[in-house]
Amino acid sequence: MKILTTLKDFNNYRSKLNSKSIGFVPTMGALHPGHMSLINQSINDNMKSIVSIYVNPTQFDQVSDLNNYPNHLNEDIKQLKENGVDAVFIPKYSEIYADNYTFQVQENNLSNLYCGAHREGHFNGVLTVVMKLLNIVSPTQVYLGEKDYQQLTLIRKMVDAFFMKPQVIGCPIIREIDGLAMSSRNLRLDKQQRKLAPQLYKTIQKDISKEQIHQQLSTLGFKVDYIETMDNRLLVAAFLGDIRLIDNVPYHFKQQATQ
Ligand code: AMP
Repeated sequence: MKILTTLKDFNNYRSKLNSKSIGFVPTMGALHPGHMSLINQSINDNMKSIVSIYVNPTQFDQVSDLNNYPNHLNEDIKQLKENGVDAVFIPKYSEIYADNYTFQVQENNLSNLYCGAHREGHFNGVLTVVMKLLNIVSPTQVYLGEKDYQQLTLIRKMVDAFFMKPQVIGCPIIREIDGLAMSSRNLRLDKQQRKLAPQLYKTIQKDISKEQIHQQLSTLGFKVDYIETMDNRLLVAAFLGDIRLIDNVPYHFKQQATQ
């Protein structure tokens, strides 16, 4: 597996790839089975698979969240190697943001709702870095998780709006045995919070109204950020302490209860 940390080395590697199908999985590292499911799908579908590990500062609205973001680079590289990834790209801020983030991708509708409502600039940061990475890597397919459903939707819309070439593949949410959606941030939950966390998924699956879900989650000890429907999904974000958990489930089961 190639480990590439500069644009020059990456571009050199990429220019020699003449495979017809190149899969790409952008990540922020601290890899878990959720990431690996995307990576394995890419490996199954493509001749070559490239993963990026980059903790993108422009999408964090809280400095503490950025500073506390887990870094498991050595374990991540080992896992990627063992799974048969062809190259990992680990760029530096100075190269990704050589323009000092003066150029940004901005979406003015969906970005301002749900996960974007209280996280100023979050989706500008996400869309900007994903466009940069897609332009650098130039994959045939990019693999993204349904876990971040609003992010997946916005990236699909950006790719359409800017006539970008890669095909966007959405992959299902991978969960712990107790139902908690896997996330790098779960590592920050203390013992008590970790015990409570699966109640988020359990509660949003119930055939009750959004208001009742809100009430039940609050009673359990979650601080609900939002519960909203988009497409055919129920999207939720809720805090345990300062850790923000997100999840989503198909919505059609619930339509009767909420109408
Ligand atoms: P992140 O490292 O959190 O930026 O995530 C990188 C990619 O992995 C994104 O497309 C996420 O949606 C996806 N992902 C993260 N957690 C999961 C999960 N539990 N199941 C499926 N995909 C996931």
